[in-house]
Amino acid sequence: MKHQWIVAGVLAALALSFPASAQIAGSDHFATSGGAVDIVPIHHASLMLAYKGTHILIDPAPLDGAQGDAVTAPYKAMPRPDLILITHIHGDHFNAPILQAVAGPNTVILAPQNVRDAMPADLQAKVKVMKNGDHDVFAAIPVDAVAMYNTTPAKMNFHPKGLGNGYVLGFADKRVYVAGDTEETPELAHLANIDLAFIPANLPYTQTVEAAAKWVTDFRPKMVFPYHYRNQDGTTSDMAAFSTLVGKASLVRLRKWY
Ligand code: ZN
Ligand code: ZN
Repeated sequence: MKHQWIVAGVLAALALSFPASAQIAGSDHFATSGGAVDIVPIHHASLMLAYKGTHILIDPAPLDGAQGDAVTAPYKAMPRPDLILITHIHGDHFNAPILQAVAGPNTVILAPQNVRDAMPADLQAKVKVMKNGDHDVFAAIPVDAVAMYNTTPAKMNFHPKGLGNGYVLGFADKRVYVAGDTEETPELAHLANIDLAFIPANLPYTQTVEAAAKWVTDFRPKMVFPYHYRNQDGTTSDMAAFSTLVGKASLVRLRKWY
């Protein structure tokens, strides 16, 4: 996998002391009272988190132009996930062949009902359905499913309320929020005590950088990784502008998602 990492300033900001051998190469490390969370941006909305030997894969989807074996190869090269979170059914978040390639006998998949319904039986057997408001615990990691939907009238058909989940994960004293494809909804406007957030900013499916930044200044995660910011027309949203608009409300971490 090819990743370029913007390292300057990050390690100091994250205050890490975890042994290098326990970390995934090329990842960011986020300190908690229980140890570091490794953060591996993969592509667009796909990422992996690792904490104390538990690997959590989120919305694995094909890399650009991937066909045949190249669809699954980047994911097979990573540690086998213990837990997989799927936010919603769109192809840039849910891909059954990738799940079949990486899920082991003990892998648990958390997903909305309509995603489970779209899976082959072998995958369905691994799924625990979550809907907005549900709570679960996996390997001592609490997981909350939260709202994920469009609020702008012209966009409501993209992500109707109730069909997708964002997820809030607890790692010791820290909370990590993965938004999926959403705008700022009433439920999400003041999501409390988020230390690290993954926030989308693409058009037309989610939100402008201005709207994304406004939302961040409302709920004030301590750190934010904008992701899912390539637009339908192939351009990417202006993440430098996003950083400027967020200002001091949150530490913005720009990474190589494309
Ligand atoms: Zn979507
Ligand atoms: Zn998407």
